[in-house]
Amino acid sequence: MSERIVMSDLYGSNVFNDAVMCERLPKRVYKELKRTIEKGEELNPEIADVVAEAIKSWAIEKGATHYTHWFQPMTGITAEKHDAFIAPTEDGKAIMEFAGKELIKGEPDGSSFPSGGIRATFEARGYTIWDCTSPAFLKEDASGVTLCIPTIFCAYTGEALDKKTPLLRSMEAINKQALRVVRLFGDTTATKVTPSVGPEQEYFLVDKKLFDQRKDLVFTGRTLFGAMPPKGQELDDHYFGTIKERVACYMNDLNKELWKLGISAKTQHNEVAPAQHELAPIYDDSNIAADHNQLVMEYMKKIALRHGLVCLLHEKPFAGVNGSGKHNNWSISTDTGVNLLEPGKEPHKNKQFLLFLLAVIKAVDENAPLLRLAASNPGNDHRLGANEAPPAIISIFLGEQLEDILEQIESGNLSSSKGTTQMSLGVSTVPKLNKDATDRNRTSPFAFTGNKFEFRMVASSISISCPNYMINTFVAEALCQFADELEKADDFDKALDELLVRTIKEHKRVIFNGDGYSKEWEEEAERRGLPNLKSVVDAVPYFTEPRAVKIFEKHGVLTEIECNARAEVTYEDYAKKIDIEAKTAIQMVSKEIMPAVMKYAKEIADTVASLKAVGADASVEEELLGKITVNLKAANEALKNLTVAVEKGDSIKDFAESAFFFKDVVFPAMNALRTPIDELETMIDEKVWPMPTYGDLLFSI
Ligand code: ADP
Ligand code: MG
Repeated sequence: MSERIVMSDLYGSNVFNDAVMCERLPKRVYKELKRTIEKGEELNPEIADVVAEAIKSWAIEKGATHYTHWFQPMTGITAEKHDAFIAPTEDGKAIMEFAGKELIKGEPDGSSFPSGGIRATFEARGYTIWDCTSPAFLKEDASGVTLCIPTIFCAYTGEALDKKTPLLRSMEAINKQALRVVRLFGDTTATKVTPSVGPEQEYFLVDKKLFDQRKDLVFTGRTLFGAMPPKGQELDDHYFGTIKERVACYMNDLNKELWKLGISAKTQHNEVAPAQHELAPIYDDSNIAADHNQLVMEYMKKIALRHGLVCLLHEKPFAGVNGSGKHNNWSISTDTGVNLLEPGKEPHKNKQFLLFLLAVIKAVDENAPLLRLAASNPGNDHRLGANEAPPAIISIFLGEQLEDILEQIESGNLSSSKGTTQMSLGVSTVPKLNKDATDRNRTSPFAFTGNKFEFRMVASSISISCPNYMINTFVAEALCQFADELEKADDFDKALDELLVRTIKEHKRVIFNGDGYSKEWEEEAERRGLPNLKSVVDAVPYFTEPRAVKIFEKHGVLTEIECNARAEVTYEDYAKKIDIEAKTAIQMVSKEIMPAVMKYAKEIADTVASLKAVGADASVEEELLGKITVNLKAANEALKNLTVAVEKGDSIKDFAESAFFFKDVVFPAMNALRTPIDELETMIDEKVWPMPTYGDLLFSI
């Protein structure tokens, strides 16, 4: 039997949250800190010593021996450098020390994190600076307890070297512009507008013993080879299926650890592909959601190992079955509790909602290539455009009701909202229910889902900071343009109506309610002039265009140097990842697969010789040997091509040139090698094949 959990004792028990702050900080300090956290006022450094002392005593009572500044460099994962609280005393003993200055600022050697050219290796200074808007927490495991202080990470010269800083800056930008707009609608009470995010996280689980036998999984997180098993996801029997006990035990353990960290893990279920699952927390302010999502990914991996499992966060660990994404649910609300994307019962009368809705539509249409980039990494290139995932074209699903309203506005005839109807189920014992105003659309990359937008394109393994700072910034820019225009208007209502009509006309091309996975949509999207960028690499140049830089600089989110740095890091990351995949493929084929195939071919050849020696029929063996030889030769050729391509790729110094080379030459060469190898797998005795197969990996738990 599993132990009983007392949720109220467990939840947030490892977080220095508001309740703990209120209890442990002097009232004056608590109030000052709250003003900084809630109202965005500048932090008074004089309170740092008091806060540090309170955090330290709380952490030490809970068993902490070390503290770390916890930050999010441009690698997309988190970083930490641990320091003990220890301070030796003259009498040979030690006291536990943690001063305000250690809370506020750290100085890790920043030179080995990607800086995109902002820092040369010899210029090593980088700073981590306390982000008090995100609460400190304790990481607890078999090795002990560590106090983690969320921080931002910047260079000696002041540029952001991380993912968190632009996110925080973008929250300030959208706050400023959204407040201008709500004021125009007569809201005088709201003092802050904050974006909320709820990221649904998909993942795969495989058995650790099998994982260890696959170099591709170990080095790259995905399978580079593998023939399809007889059964994949055709029967749809895994989606929402009964969760197996081993997986359920893992999920329970994971939930408990996340709850301790104040992460509201709420929903869990089996996903479409075999061995695929999902976890969704309850939404939170976008900076907290971003921190939490990093922890969710970290703990998913960590807890899996305790259960003899490995958690794969790669976007496409297995070809032929669904890959993993992260659905970024996004909305904006005021501190008076108004969700600005809530249409209400009669959206046609809710002009403020319609204006915010159109700000998002305009933002998405004008910045589609950058949103495509923000959602991407090399792994997501396998997913986008493949049949299970949103295509690489960015479009917005609004649903019948809102699309109808926009049509009415455009035609100058706004009069009604399509109402809700009752569902007729034909079963008298079940309660009568109202239908939602709109159905869902599972194929749209950017879908309006009732009172929020769901950006469904985001890669499963990346930090959600970038997609969110992009959305926040572009919506801030749209709102800014709206406010500029409306603030000047003599007749607000007339100006508003004109603005709505014009914005619909200009941006309705991005709205699409049909099947986003169909071939017809690709053709239609091309006619509408919507970009269809097949690879992350194709989207990078948009980041450094003057147009993009101007928007980021205008809203104080990124400087030109910071934009260029991020573009460079993306190119470099792409080239390095494909390089590692290609080298892994070369090793697996030359050291594991070809030797096994050759040995097997020799066995068949020996059998052929023996059969012939006694005058028996060896035609079946000869036919098989012939097929194996054909594929072995093809594999050998492909291996040589790939080896040459990788050598060439490694010699290219320019980041952009190198990324395009790995995309256009190395990646196809790797796929060309996969084809004969997967063929060979279907011909070879399974006892001889040198690694676990898709069947083993997907159906072993
Ligand atoms: P689905 O059925 O698509 O899984 P859910 O209603 O379960 O959608 O929500 C998925 C995620 O969206 C959850 O993380 C949830 O907390 C989050 N979410 C719900 N409402 C909002 C909102 N207003 N803003 C941002 N995220 C939200
Ligand atoms: Mg969803």
